[in-house]
Amino acid sequence: MDPKLIFSSILKDKLGSNVEISSIKNLSGGCINHAFKVDTSAGAYFIKYNPNQNLSMFESEAQGLTIFKQSNCIDIPNVIGFGKASEFAYLILEFIDSSTPSREYWKDFGEKLAQMHQTTNTYFGLTHSNFIGSLPQFNRPTSSWISFFIEQRLEIQFQMAVDSGKISKSFIPKMNDVYRKLPDLIPEGKPSLLHGDLWSGNVMVNKNGEVILIDPAVYYGNREVELAFTTLFGGFDQTFYDSYIDHFPLLPAFEDRIDLYNLYPLLVHVNLFGGGYVNSVIQIVNRYLR
Ligand code: ADP
Repeated sequence: MDPKLIFSSILKDKLGSNVEISSIKNLSGGCINHAFKVDTSAGAYFIKYNPNQNLSMFESEAQGLTIFKQSNCIDIPNVIGFGKASEFAYLILEFIDSSTPSREYWKDFGEKLAQMHQTTNTYFGLTHSNFIGSLPQFNRPTSSWISFFIEQRLEIQFQMAVDSGKISKSFIPKMNDVYRKLPDLIPEGKPSLLHGDLWSGNVMVNKNGEVILIDPAVYYGNREVELAFTTLFGGFDQTFYDSYIDHFPLLPAFEDRIDLYNLYPLLVHVNLFGGGYVNSVIQIVNRYLR
């Protein structure tokens, strides 16, 4: 079916019957869904869709963006709507007109993330599950960060990797040793509102030259896990970290825990993209068990 007809029908449904589409542009960059810029008589919109009709993915992304918006710390695109049309599920967002970063971009971003991480909660987790990439991410409310991180982050992804044969069963005892050692290695900390998938691909620049974040996998967790993830694929300026620490100092020896936290995104990458990441997981585990 002609995408223009489908987009026209869903935009009319969300924005009113007099909306006319002037152009549709395919956007690259997404890992999972098809993404488009749709110019209309009512402005530009970002629409992504997937043909598997996986509406829960978009529903949880919209919920995450709404939680973000309520915390009022970092800009995110407004949610226009989500639903099912024809053969696919879709999400419509305000289109972000990227511009160049302001001179204070990284300093401001560090300060804003520090503020957002001070948005706290009575438990680790969230009221609903969501997705990390295309994989389910469970957020059952838990009072202990360490239990949460083991049971709802590491164990689930590790088991998935073993079940699919990407990681050998013979590695299970070592992973169990890591779980046993974790209470001595990472602090409990307090629940912080986290973006949950904070890598450079989900960081954009808004029209004022300030940070705007997309594609969250929101939950309340120990903020160290989020900062650790920002270092995994690079792209964040040192000014960002300096500014963050100025506004919300970290506990001593955070650097020593970075790789341990990054076992989670690395296991997610093993499950999403295959075996190339297995070695990184094995090396980290062996190092912490030494
Ligand atoms: P996926 O869910 O497939 O990972 P993303 O949400 O990451 O898709 O979006 C794909 C790409 O589209 C991003 O890398 C980004 O460049 C761009 N993008 C995402 N959201 C917006 C938006 N609201 N406005 C403009 N561009 C966007």
